[in-house]
Amino acid sequence: MAQAEIGLIGLAVMGANLALNIAEKGFSIAIHNRSAGRIDEVLPQADALKGDMIGCRTPEELVASLKSPRSIIIMVKAGQPVDDVIDQLLPLLAPGDTLIDAGNANFHDTRRRLNRLKPMGFGFIGMGVSGGEEGARHGPSIMVGGTPEEYARLETILQAIAAKFQGDPCVDLMGPDGAGHFVKTVHNGIEYADMQMIAEVYGYLRDQGQLQPKAMAGMFQTWNKGPLKSYLIEITGKILATTDPDTGQPMVDVIEDRAGQKGTGRWTLIEALTLGQSASTIEAAVGARSWSAAKQARLVGEDLLPDPDGETTKQAEQDGEIAISDAELEQALLAAKIIAYSQGFSLLSAADQQYGWDLDLARIAEIWREGCIIRSAMLDDMAAAARSGMPHGHLIFSASFAARLASSVRSLRRFVASSALHGLATPAMSSALAYYDTMRRARGTTNLIQAQRDFFGAHGFERLDGRADQHGPWQGQ
Ligand code: NDP
Repeated sequence: MAQAEIGLIGLAVMGANLALNIAEKGFSIAIHNRSAGRIDEVLPQADALKGDMIGCRTPEELVASLKSPRSIIIMVKAGQPVDDVIDQLLPLLAPGDTLIDAGNANFHDTRRRLNRLKPMGFGFIGMGVSGGEEGARHGPSIMVGGTPEEYARLETILQAIAAKFQGDPCVDLMGPDGAGHFVKTVHNGIEYADMQMIAEVYGYLRDQGQLQPKAMAGMFQTWNKGPLKSYLIEITGKILATTDPDTGQPMVDVIEDRAGQKGTGRWTLIEALTLGQSASTIEAAVGARSWSAAKQARLVGEDLLPDPDGETTKQAEQDGEIAISDAELEQALLAAKIIAYSQGFSLLSAADQQYGWDLDLARIAEIWREGCIIRSAMLDDMAAAARSGMPHGHLIFSASFAARLASSVRSLRRFVASSALHGLATPAMSSALAYYDTMRRARGTTNLIQAQRDFFGAHGFERLDGRADQHGPWQGQ
């Protein structure tokens, strides 16, 4: 007999925990997974919670278990598997039923799937879910893309399972079609930048400060009580304090320094460039992961390219030493982080104009205050800044963040300068500073580039007096 309020397909880490979260909040849920073994693993966990969960061996059983109109969350591997599941379900559904893709979909795929399903009379929601395993189980941040009617049908369940910031559920309708997945993509892009910047500070402390991880852990724990307070700073402190049970070494010291970049990080860059933007801190972070993957080349490079600290003592003396205090490091990270988030919000604004989503940047900042990986104390202030107006959509121009940068950016300069002198790579923090210095100057240097383009390609330029399509007197030069 049809009885469950909602269905869920895909019981890996995210799907299983989301299903348990829904069951725990008192909603009846029907679950299905391609490999049936996972169903048997999840059901006893729901029983332990006294949750109302129905295990379904086939998509047919799942559809038959749901109250009409049906709502089915798809939480499988992003990409073709989502289309496979949709293909399986379509012949079983009735018009008015809604599918909810809660994975990390590319928002272009979400728009494509919506355009396929809408004419058939089905609803389709693209829903970004952040917070990893723990978030899915106890309260994620949820970014929904769909119509107000579709959202209204799900709102009670989503508000119950979402993280809460001072009682406010971290879920909302971002806008139509791909808006939810786009906001999730930019969230992940910011996450890349935030993590990279923290890693750059860690690298400075390790390679320049010669600090052991346990000593750094204390710094991160202290920073987590100040303006940098955030989930990523908190877990970094915990990671640095952890010992490898096999070797007794600090855990972080026995982990290979190599990472991949795929999906959402890369998509953020592609979309930024397509929209004529450059979220340079995110680009730097994604690029740094690609560089990290070139481990064999770096091993060769270490022997071939000299370390600046190994150059002559005289040169080192000429360069001068820049001593960076702990407090300055904190301020440097704070400034870089503000700039990275500002770039993320600018990208959201640009996409909003392109796709007409009517995104509420303040609400997005509010949704990110709890549950998601980039949750931080600063997001509450960012929401307030967005509400009171950000000139030209730039967070760094808002009165409160311009003031924070005024007092912290000098530390970022000194950190970047010191790192450069010692040959320490800080791609994300350097690019944050370059962006800040670009945005605070009305006159940049592209006038020379325009002249060069006109010189070799007669591309023309606009003069300061407003005359367009002008050419320089280059002939004979
Ligand atoms: P995975 O991305 O590892 O996907 C595994 C799940 O997909 C399994 O249930 C698997 O079924 C199913 N699956 C794969 N291919 C197919 C197919 N062709 N047909 C049917 N089912 C298929 O799981 P996660 O839980 O890690 O992530 C789920 C989604 O959530 C992804 O889009 C991911 O990007 C996103 N996400 C993940 C986060 C995380 O921290 N892991 C955080 C936020 C979002 P089977 O068991 O039969 O193989």
